[in-house]
Amino acid sequence: GSVIGILGGGQLGRMTALAAAQLGYDVHVYCGSEDEPAAQVARFVTTASFDDEAALACFAEAVNVVTYEFENIPTAPVRFLEERVAVRPGAAVLETGQDRIKEKAFFNGLDIATAPWKPVHSLADLEAAVEALGRPSVLKTARLGYDGKGQVRIDDGTDLAEAWDSLKTDAAVLEGFIDFDREISVIVARGTDGAIACYDPVENIHVHHILDTTIAPAPVDGPRGRQTLEDAVSVARKAADALELVGLLAVEMFVDRSGHVLVNEMAPRPHNSGHWTMDACLTSQFEQLVRAICGLPLGSPLRRCDCRMKNLIGEDVHQWQGALSETTAHVHLYGKAEVRAGRKMGHINYLYPLSEDGHHG
Ligand code: ATP
Ligand code: MG
Ligand code: MG
Repeated sequence: GSVIGILGGGQLGRMTALAAAQLGYDVHVYCGSEDEPAAQVARFVTTASFDDEAALACFAEAVNVVTYEFENIPTAPVRFLEERVAVRPGAAVLETGQDRIKEKAFFNGLDIATAPWKPVHSLADLEAAVEALGRPSVLKTARLGYDGKGQVRIDDGTDLAEAWDSLKTDAAVLEGFIDFDREISVIVARGTDGAIACYDPVENIHVHHILDTTIAPAPVDGPRGRQTLEDAVSVARKAADALELVGLLAVEMFVDRSGHVLVNEMAPRPHNSGHWTMDACLTSQFEQLVRAICGLPLGSPLRRCDCRMKNLIGEDVHQWQGALSETTAHVHLYGKAEVRAGRKMGHINYLYPLSEDGHHG
């Protein structure tokens, strides 16, 4: 049979591995420990670091296609693998997605709006950027940030030298602060033949910079009505085509007060805001990823009911047993033994009758 290689051992890899098994594939996970969520459910596991070329070469021999489940992997090992086996999405997509400077330039190059931004490589750059974009604004490391880590808000009283030093980086961006109406995201899949399937845009609610709840579909109540969501879908499709993506792409956006979308960031992998698709769509995002990277026809992304996805973060995980007695609640746990504050332990999909909202096509 065919073997899918997954770089990274987290919950996104775990749910991809479960979907792969359903379609008869074996999964080989490359990660740090056999206890990681994806390693627990994989047929084969390599525990090695990303700079171990011998281990990477063996992995490339053992699998038919490689994908990854987090975007902060160093690109050198991914390039190394790409010389030996198909990597989907490719290393170039990963490189664009893991550097905010390249990412924002990519979207702006497609005439897609982002928050106004400036690259920042020094305190002098930061001072000039704050002069140009004003306060409040947000300073973010160009690389390796997640869950709001590696960001500082620049307010009226913020000392710029302190803000710059706190990031401990030589590459960052300053973004104008967006007074958004809501945050939404779109997940798009693109196959080896260029076919595209797009899920309904959803609303994302963050608590302490971590995704807490996803509402599917995103409500349609802004000044531009359905057009806002149509725009969000076309942004995602346009990006997937321009990247010649094979796999999944999640695009996070702000909806501003006038109902226009501004791209925040993208991730070329399954996304937490797509977990609702596991119980509410004809094809889950994980099955869709497997289909895309294995050269199979994409499945229908159609929403068959509405959904509210609640992340179980830290001690929230104890809600899972109570949820089992709710008819419309679907519990997903990630197999993490240790409960830690801020750690994503699982999620619950609450299903509701299908509404008229959402996009149709
Ligand atoms: P993730 O875990 O989604 O990868 P991240 O660390 O990469 O997070 P961002 O998604 O860039 O960070 O920002 C985290 C959150 O901070 C956003 O979802 C949004 O709520 C808020 N935020 C970020 N940038 C801005 C901005 N320019 N204006 C207003 N709010 C912002
Ligand atoms: Mg991010
Ligand atoms: Mg984000």
